[in-house]
Amino acid sequence: MKKKLLAFLLILVLAITAIVATACTKNTERDFKQVTASVSYAGRSSQVDKLELNATIYNFVYNNYYYYQQGAMTADDYQKMLDKIDVSYKQANESLAESEAYTLMCIDELYKLVMAKGTDEEKAAATAASTVGKAYDAAARIKEIVSVLPKKDLIAAIEAYNKEMQESFDSFLEAYESEIEKSVTKHSTDNVKELTVISKPWKLTYEKGESFIENGLKVGVVYEDSTDVVTLDRDEYTVTGFSSENVSEKVEITVSFGKKSATFDVAIVDAKVSRPALPKDDEEESAEKTEIPALFEVDLDKQIEDVKTSDSARYKALSEAKRRLEKQMSTNYRNYEYYYLSKLKSQAVTACEEIKGKESTGVTQAEILAEYQKRLNDQLQELELGAKEYSSAVDSPAVKTQIVHKDDKIFYVLHTLLGLSSDLKKEYDALKSEKTSHSDALWEVKKGLIDESSMYVSNPEYDKDAKCEDEDCTCISCENYTGENPGECTDENCTCEKCPNKRYLKTITYGDNKTLNAKEDGTFDILDLRAAMYEDLAAMSDASTAEERAENLKVFKKWIYMTNDDESFFTTLSDGKLGYSLSMDESDYVESFTELSRLLAYGTELEKESSDYYIVGSGVGSFGYCYTTYGIHVIMLSGYALDPNVETQALTDGMVAIPADAITDYTSYKAAENDEETATVTPAKGTIAYDIVEKLESNKKDEKIGAFKKDFYQNALKNDVEITYFEKVYQDLIEQYQN
Ligand SMILES: [Zn+2]
Ligand SMILES: [Zn+2]
Repeated sequence: MKKKLLAFLLILVLAITAIVATACTKNTERDFKQVTASVSYAGRSSQVDKLELNATIYNFVYNNYYYYQQGAMTADDYQKMLDKIDVSYKQANESLAESEAYTLMCIDELYKLVMAKGTDEEKAAATAASTVGKAYDAAARIKEIVSVLPKKDLIAAIEAYNKEMQESFDSFLEAYESEIEKSVTKHSTDNVKELTVISKPWKLTYEKGESFIENGLKVGVVYEDSTDVVTLDRDEYTVTGFSSENVSEKVEITVSFGKKSATFDVAIVDAKVSRPALPKDDEEESAEKTEIPALFEVDLDKQIEDVKTSDSARYKALSEAKRRLEKQMSTNYRNYEYYYLSKLKSQAVTACEEIKGKESTGVTQAEILAEYQKRLNDQLQELELGAKEYSSAVDSPAVKTQIVHKDDKIFYVLHTLLGLSSDLKKEYDALKSEKTSHSDALWEVKKGLIDESSMYVSNPEYDKDAKCEDEDCTCISCENYTGENPGECTDENCTCEKCPNKRYLKTITYGDNKTLNAKEDGTFDILDLRAAMYEDLAAMSDASTAEERAENLKVFKKWIYMTNDDESFFTTLSDGKLGYSLSMDESDYVESFTELSRLLAYGTELEKESSDYYIVGSGVGSFGYCYTTYGIHVIMLSGYALDPNVETQALTDGMVAIPADAITDYTSYKAAENDEETATVTPAKGTIAYDIVEKLESNKKDEKIGAFKKDFYQNALKNDVEITYFEKVYQDLIEQYQN
């Protein structure tokens, strides 16, 4: 029984697809364009057609069929679903009609808004495009929505439409291009005497972890009874054997064509340090787009026209892909207009709801306080109940959004590690394994080795993850260079963004226009670097201004990108703006690291002076250095979670209540920008207060949108919307399912 049903279902699903896919005649088209529901609201009309309804039901049946196939639905239930398909049709038709009505209400709201607040020009355009009192017409509806949509929403709708069309188009283009490719005559794999590497790739030495670059590689074939070398196309042969996982003097790379192969070798060496590029200053927030993009089909026609005389292969490919895309649409009785309109309609709904949501008034100081108090009470209660996750969060130096905390002295530091050279570390490890020296003596040896260390200094402008965009790049070390094997680029003035020549600095400029030059091998002594860094950072005093402190942080960040050897730190720095979170209570970091950090944050002048950390200045922007087993750490205080002078509220068991303006999420921290004009409160990002405001605003917005929708279903739908259903129109589809 079960098997029989399955066969029946398969036929059914195929049959329904066939309705749309093959029966492409004028009669079927006319049949599918019949209206199954007509809708009107405030003088505007819309409709649901049989094609739309059929597509909805088809998806519904198909999903159920899928569940059934996966065993998530029994055969009986599946059969019941089919038996009741008439009910599903009725419900789907109603739901489509109601959704049309809701869209009409949104269009009406947007129209009213233009009339109330738009410029004369906008009002005139909206009036001219209004469809009030007119029969439904898709093209007119497009013009109408375009005339009332806020510009950013219109751009969003067009972008969504263009993306969808482009994706379909690309798949047709790709299919066509691979057909062409296959039809091109290739070199025969028969009667091959020898496969030969005509030219090796230019890059034959790789650092551990690098990926293979085959530029410069040319492979040829010599046939029996001939001495000529015939160059092969790249897609005719395969390249295998590359691995940069381990250091190796010789890794054999094999090129294969048919049954023949040839080899060449590459070497894998230790990886040099790779630091990320310094992020650009105050990354400009992507400016709001103001230009309305051309529609996909308009742009495509222009592209086709552009290559008509210059590139006949491209012209043919684009034209053919366009023809196939349009044919597929018309097979389904769809067109560009249909897809564009559906994107506009959904954007009209989004825009309208967005506007309704924004009508909620801002958050007041009193509301923030009330919410803060509520959260505080909730957290105290959870603590009392012994919620495990909560108590571990209380202990953690990362404050997250906790209000109750063990420690009210939480602060942030930035640091750079001038690391012990790897060869000197090996020397030390060998000495240590002999176990002849006392640990204090060993530490003195290590400090000596650290002082002897040298390192590469990264160019903060060089982005190791960037891609060279220049397709005709002339840098011989660039991936885009297409010439034969000339070796590595040594051009000092090379303009390629990815030129390996630019990876490390050869000269550092610091302080009052002083310079420091790299040694012969390209590295710098770390003691020289530390001295230069100290001179480059402005001397801080109690009197230093906020600007001076900020400047010091900026200069230090650049040094971090140039010199830091603590790899785990890069993520912290690139995500956050404050650096490591530390507390007076707990810390997982090395002792001298935390001791210096605590002195910077809360130490007295006397404590600082009598320490071995060479601390300069006080407060945010002050810095010092310490030795650890990894090397020399230069550390700078970058911020406090809360003002150190503010008294925190003491709770039971030595707990404190962290105030609302404390920075608890340092990765998203951004200072507040005071806007005197609006009465609403915008706290600094990353603080408890910011989190509260965000939450309250979003609640208010949801409430407003909810009320708008509720009004539609409870009032408008009953009183202002008119819907007429034409059930006979789709009766034949129901019968097809039921037979
Ligand atoms: Zn170059
Ligand atoms: Zn390049």
